[in-house]
Amino acid sequence: MRYRAQSSQLNIVRYNVQAFFIKRFTLENLATKIASVLKAYRKEKGWSLDITSQKTGVSKAMLGQIERGESSPTIATLWKIASGFGVSFSSFVEDTTSRESHVHRSAFRQVHPADDKIRVLPLFPYDEELRFEVFIIELLPGCEHLSPPHQKGVAEHVIVSQGEIEVLVNGSWVHLQENEGLHFDASLPHGYRNISATKAVFHDIIHYGI
Ligand code: MN
Repeated sequence: MRYRAQSSQLNIVRYNVQAFFIKRFTLENLATKIASVLKAYRKEKGWSLDITSQKTGVSKAMLGQIERGESSPTIATLWKIASGFGVSFSSFVEDTTSRESHVHRSAFRQVHPADDKIRVLPLFPYDEELRFEVFIIELLPGCEHLSPPHQKGVAEHVIVSQGEIEVLVNGSWVHLQENEGLHFDASLPHGYRNISATKAVFHDIIHYGI
């Protein structure tokens, strides 16, 4: 829903927009959100910490820490967890999107102190029917981010909106400049790096197959 509303609808629209922003921006703590989602997925599957560790490749100790909200996982670790459960990345950081049409606005987030040169903005959280999610990702100069393989059938579309990046696909780095895009099979190891002296920004559309 947009702000430009007819005056007769203004109260309703304002209420909706405010509710939307409150929901998005008062998550005081990303670790708490991730902890509760992880717990819920584990309960749903009936997986012990041992089994979860086997399925995700993340140690039991680390899973325990994450589940107690003691630490946020890195982006790479969170991807391992999402892939192990066969669920979307954004389901850990955002609520599933509603099909209602409204302006999506989120904030860039640093997921973990170790991920100090990469910021993630979940623009369209995972859509269960269309099976995709859209992130805007910001790479600071010198950032090289390697991603573990996602589950089978996952494809990424990367579109650069600012600066220059290289994307690691099939073992080689592919150069992309502003307004260029690349799609690739994200069930293989891949990565992104900023090769310029300024910030680089790209959109990442992640499709979870059929
Ligand atoms: Mn990826």
